[in-house]
Amino acid sequence: MKRIIPGIIIFLVLAVKASAAVPEGSLLEGVKPGPDGKIDIVTMFPHQDDELNAAGTFMKLKKENPAVRAHIVCFTLGELSGAKETLNLTPEFQGKIRTKEMEAAATVIGVDSLIQLQYHDQGLPKVPPEELRKKVREIIDRTGAEIVITYGPDGMTGHMDHITLSKAVTDAFPNSSAQKLYYAAMPKEYCPLLKALNKTGCTAATIKVDIRPYKKMKKLAWYEHATQKFFSGPIPSPDLTFLRDFEYFKPAETNP
Ligand SMILES: [Zn+2]
Repeated sequence: MKRIIPGIIIFLVLAVKASAAVPEGSLLEGVKPGPDGKIDIVTMFPHQDDELNAAGTFMKLKKENPAVRAHIVCFTLGELSGAKETLNLTPEFQGKIRTKEMEAAATVIGVDSLIQLQYHDQGLPKVPPEELRKKVREIIDRTGAEIVITYGPDGMTGHMDHITLSKAVTDAFPNSSAQKLYYAAMPKEYCPLLKALNKTGCTAATIKVDIRPYKKMKKLAWYEHATQKFFSGPIPSPDLTFLRDFEYFKPAETNP
């Protein structure tokens, strides 16, 4: 506890500083609606709860622009998180529970579709890269995505599934009909800490989205992932992320 309190104070100071440094922006900038008049935005992340990087942004965009449709794609079953030890679950059973948790969180966020794929947790590096790229393009076609969101090349936490999927999405994007690719990012003030923790680098944000009116619903979405919130370690995961007023992104690629 002695170490947690200074950590919380540092985090809060960084959060305030960071939010001042990054300009506000919209993911919709420069994006044209598709032939159906809609703007489809798809998050492509490996695990149940990764979508929270864009949950407030989804709620905000859908509220503000009726043309926006939001889609979550979760690539793995999430069966290897630490909660299975705490709860004494088999990986298969944990995968089933997390799939249900993802459905509940998607309901709270209010997305238009949830696509749950069946890859194994920590298994994406073993999938042939061409298969993953093909899957990414199939999903872009199926959802009619104009905008795609994934992790940056560092994977934010250094998780190999995050890094592998980032590469697959980034490589598939130029040959797709989507218009813009964004990375979920961090304020640059966090980067020294992340680099020290992860050794894989850091994707520094260039825009932020104000999600203040949606923070409570985002927190509710987080609590739907109860295995992760309460049982992924010896103590519940802190809610620090949800004190943040903004979500952060970096525009990565644009298709003509
Ligand atoms: Zn993840």
